Amino acid sequence: MNNRKAELAEHAAQAKEALAEAANRSGRAARDITLVAVSKLHPGSDIRALAESGQMDFGENYVQEAMGKQEELADLDVNWHFIGGLQSNKAKFVSGKYALVHSVDSRKLAQALHKKASGLGVVQDILLQVNIAGEMQKSGITMEILPKLADEVMEMDSIRLVGLMTMPPFFDEPERARPVFSRLRQLKDALEKQLGTKLPHLSMGMTGDFVPAVEEGATLVRIGTRIFGVRPPRI
Ligand SMILES: *Cc1c(COP(=O)(O)O)cnc(C)c1O
Repeated sequence: MNNRKAELAEHAAQAKEALAEAANRSGRAARDITLVAVSKLHPGSDIRALAESGQMDFGENYVQEAMGKQEELADLDVNWHFIGGLQSNKAKFVSGKYALVHSVDSRKLAQALHKKASGLGVVQDILLQVNIAGEMQKSGITMEILPKLADEVMEMDSIRLVGLMTMPPFFDEPERARPVFSRLRQLKDALEKQLGTKLPHLSMGMTGDFVPAVEEGATLVRIGTRIFGVRPPRI
């Protein structure tokens, strides 16, 4: 086993252990939480190395970069997650090619994903990304718009709403993100009542704040730096 492969496997194992501890503390089962390894800006060879140790869920942010990796790693059974900002004119490169699109933040984008999935004859699972902390946060829809957008998405039969995602502002102290996570869970509960359907997923928690996220009910945590190390700059 080469050094990088051993290092990645070790980091992922440590992250999983920390996730399991947080799950136990809150009376949850570790198996109910999926670790999405955020591989953006890291090479496909890192993904391949980590997949060999059994980590199969990977998160990518950039359409072009991700397409290249999907091609390069087509022989692997990877569950791809699209977690980055997405313009609706690029939805055609994403819809139908990911296990889950976490970052749906407009009716226009939802419509474009639906249209492409419909053309492919598939159903694309999606999350709606909610901006909970308001001004401090750039991406996601406001809490006020969420009920209406969710209703509209339910009408689009080639995308399936399976939950919510949020990304709090960066806090030095992870505990400060906790109210954002508990708010997302409350919004999900309210939305389930409104829609009359279960929404199984809450995508929340990153390297710096995944512990409170898991304690507040995350089912998907998106961890990059803790596994792959510091990201190289985007060029
Ligand atoms: C980059 C990114 C992550 C991973 O962040 P780390 O701090 O490296 O764990 C998670 N979620 C989203 C949406 C991201 O863009």
